[in-house]
Amino acid sequence: MDCKEVNKMIPDFLENKLDHRELRKFMEHIFRCEDCKEELCIQFLVLEGMARLETGSTFDLQHELDKILEDARRKMRIRRIFHYFIYGIEVLAIILIVSIAVWMMM
Ligand SMILES: [Zn+2]
Repeated sequence: MDCKEVNKMIPDFLENKLDHRELRKFMEHIFRCEDCKEELCIQFLVLEGMARLETGSTFDLQHELDKILEDARRKMRIRRIFHYFIYGIEVLAIILIVSIAVWMMM
């Protein structure tokens, strides 16, 4: 995934519209690429800043963006653990089936 693609995905990321695969690629790039991280930061500040101007509330937006990135990272970590968990169950199921098959043949 190159910077141009990542830049196009930024609005979708901010609106939480990326699917898991897109999100993973997006995050991998964002953490590697300072340019795109900066672009994400700018777009977030503009988007949220506008909304905040209307409501008149001011927050630490940079801190909030960090939180969003951290949440996305955590979401991916949970997903990965879940995958290993499913994989483990599959392996156990196969072992069980093979054991039963062997047991029935005896
Ligand atoms: Zn980039």
